[in-house]
Amino acid sequence: MDLEITPLALQGIEQKRPLVIAGPCSAETEEQVMETAQQLVHNGVKIFRAGVWKPRTKPGGFEGVGVEALPWMQRVKAETGMLTATEVATPEHVEAALKAGIDILWIGARTTANPFSVQAIADALKGVDVPVLVKNPVNPDIELWTGALLRINSAGIKRIGAIHRGFSSVDSKLYRNPPMWHLPIELKRRFPTLPIICDPSHMGGRRDLIAPLSQQAMDLGFEGLMVESHCNPDCAWSDAKQQVLPEVLDFILDRLVIRDSVEATESISQLRKQIDELDNQLMDLLTKRMRVSREIAEYKKLHNMTVVQTTRYSEILDKRGAQGALCGMSPDFIRDIYEHIHEESVRQQLEIINK
Ligand code: PEP
Ligand code: MN
Repeated sequence: MDLEITPLALQGIEQKRPLVIAGPCSAETEEQVMETAQQLVHNGVKIFRAGVWKPRTKPGGFEGVGVEALPWMQRVKAETGMLTATEVATPEHVEAALKAGIDILWIGARTTANPFSVQAIADALKGVDVPVLVKNPVNPDIELWTGALLRINSAGIKRIGAIHRGFSSVDSKLYRNPPMWHLPIELKRRFPTLPIICDPSHMGGRRDLIAPLSQQAMDLGFEGLMVESHCNPDCAWSDAKQQVLPEVLDFILDRLVIRDSVEATESISQLRKQIDELDNQLMDLLTKRMRVSREIAEYKKLHNMTVVQTTRYSEILDKRGAQGALCGMSPDFIRDIYEHIHEESVRQQLEIINK
């Protein structure tokens, strides 16, 4: 299945990278919303985000002001001219947000992970023309992300985009939600015209990671950035550590290097030819390695030996991991590769032994 995508075509917004959406994690008070919006518009931001309904992991946290915050969003629009965006998680949210004239809706990571919720939102969107951005699900599952985009698209929403906010992980030390860049890159490969917006705030979970993550997203050719910005970040009622002052956001955006993602130049084509050639050599070597490994299997069969000899396997992992480090590669990366090679080798040996 394919997505039917038309450009987001946001009124009054130039088609230029990065498309910037900024604002507080949550709409807390009318003053905080207005103050933040005024500072952002002063710094050139044209799309204001704020969570009206907040999905919280545990009950008892600040769950958003709810419908009472919608008139504040209307004030932002009326007084600053910015477009407004908020998260919707239920058909009731969709209805209330649309009634209040919210310009852009987004589906949060926890909601994307639940096809029932996404379908209920899609049903509520039938016959409506509003841009919808779908955040990646909390878990690194590209099919779930694609499925949510397809559900919303099937409801007739053609102005659709994705937000990449990273994926939850049990052992991440640096990031709140590690980016796992290969997943949005794969999404882009599947749907080349789908705009992807990076959310460095939820990805990093820390102010100081917003700039490098934004730069990485731009270097990968993503279309936009959604950044949490608050007039008094330290006192924010949610996600305080990852929000920046509007003027800090301006500083970060100002320093981004935006490279054109135009067609490959001649010198890149030359380098790509070299990569293709090296990949061919890698394939040849792997094929040879597998052949030798099948020969070993014949020997093991003849001498009634087991396929996996753990000492030999550990020796390979250690030796090659250390060698990889000497060659400037991460030892973990080399271990991963060897784990896969070993797995295939064992599969082929088992075939021979059980023949
Ligand atoms: C948010 O944007 O404030 C939010 C709750 O994000 P996510 O759904 O990515 O966790
Ligand atoms: Mn947040």
